[in-house]
Amino acid sequence: MNFKIHRGTQEIGGSCVEVWTHATRIVIDIGMPLMHPDGSEFDISTFQPLTKENLLNKGVLPNIPGLYKSAKKPVDGVLISHYHKDHYGLGEYVSDNIKFYLGKATHQILEINNLFTSQNLELKNHQWFAHEKSFNIGDIQITPFLTDHSAFDAYAFLIEAPFGSAQGAKSKRIFYSGDFRGHGAKHKLFKWFTYHPPKHIDYLLMEGTTLGRKDTTQKTEEELGQELTGLFRQKDRINLVYCSGQNIDRIVRVYCACVQAGKTLVVDVYVAHILKVLSEHAGIPYPSKEFVNVRVMFPWALSDRLIKGGNENVVYQFTKYKITRDEIGKNPADYVLIVRPSLLRDLKKIRGMENGNFIYSLWKGYLNKPGSTKDFVEYFTNHGFTLHHLHTSGHADLPTLKRMVSAIKPKVLIPIHTLNGSDYKNHFDVQVRELSDGEIVN
Ligand SMILES: [Zn+2]
Ligand SMILES: [Zn+2]
Repeated sequence: MNFKIHRGTQEIGGSCVEVWTHATRIVIDIGMPLMHPDGSEFDISTFQPLTKENLLNKGVLPNIPGLYKSAKKPVDGVLISHYHKDHYGLGEYVSDNIKFYLGKATHQILEINNLFTSQNLELKNHQWFAHEKSFNIGDIQITPFLTDHSAFDAYAFLIEAPFGSAQGAKSKRIFYSGDFRGHGAKHKLFKWFTYHPPKHIDYLLMEGTTLGRKDTTQKTEEELGQELTGLFRQKDRINLVYCSGQNIDRIVRVYCACVQAGKTLVVDVYVAHILKVLSEHAGIPYPSKEFVNVRVMFPWALSDRLIKGGNENVVYQFTKYKITRDEIGKNPADYVLIVRPSLLRDLKKIRGMENGNFIYSLWKGYLNKPGSTKDFVEYFTNHGFTLHHLHTSGHADLPTLKRMVSAIKPKVLIPIHTLNGSDYKNHFDVQVRELSDGEIVN
């Protein structure tokens, strides 16, 4: 078995790993980079024309023969670890006849993105996998492990392939951590994993997103929930929470805090749809008879687009739970709204939209860069809102990374999804091998 990290040895985002034997070739993640080499936010539209050839020549698409168009020897499969763009974002360039392997909820989120955004990634050929259910692609065996991450349906992968040509020859084992943490809603799953880790791992490819950041430990989602409850209990204040509509752990925490503080949660039709679709997988609150304190806002432009696109059923499924701007305006302090910049036009029209709490629940880094995030937040601070930064990372802190390494005890640890690969040898008590993008390991 051989492997190569195409992108991610010295970068957070754009993850892509190729693994192959003499018979089979697979790709793990086909992520969009998050940043340009100069540190500015990655924008694929700067690489015109957006053809496969041009993107390959410019190094945006990893150079993997047989991945992008029908080839004599196409890649045998693409694994997607989770629904964050830095792990699947270049998927639309993959040839239609190559099969994608992913979790069901991940697939559902990709389809929701097709519906609500300009994304157009239809998987013509796909297979769902499930936690700890091994499957084969050619002579490579894959076992997915559900992980604790800010994406709801995220997996690590155990990859095994025969070593040598003889049948029954011993296998080599790679463990790809994907993105993970140990302080979210699935923290018990992480703990369980550390007690029952896969054994005899030759190479552990482990993310290190938080290495080099100042805060070496992360607060738990539970602690964050308590802080939210404290804020929501203040009387006479409307609360706006700016978080990712796909961060289910966070939205569930906001919902629980609403229940404890006696407030009604208001989400827009996009977040409502995500919650409803994913509620098939877990006890997630969504606008329904069971969760009467979740109400739905219908931003005009979004509703209009959905209806014109023939998706009125998505809009109308929530009409029973609609809340109007007037209703919110009458008693603003009764409500907690999940917000994002594209809702500003509608939010401005609500009476009493002043002197509330604005809870910024994303990575702080986005606040310092000029752009829609900063403008959005400033609009509210200019209208008397108090800004609170309540967030915890989607990624493992140092103690959690250490627990992962000491559970797996790999022969070799390889940094990926990190800006601080050179730090690994200072933190982890195993052999560390720092690779460069494109370097082959046999
Ligand atoms: Zn992620
Ligand atoms: Zn990532």
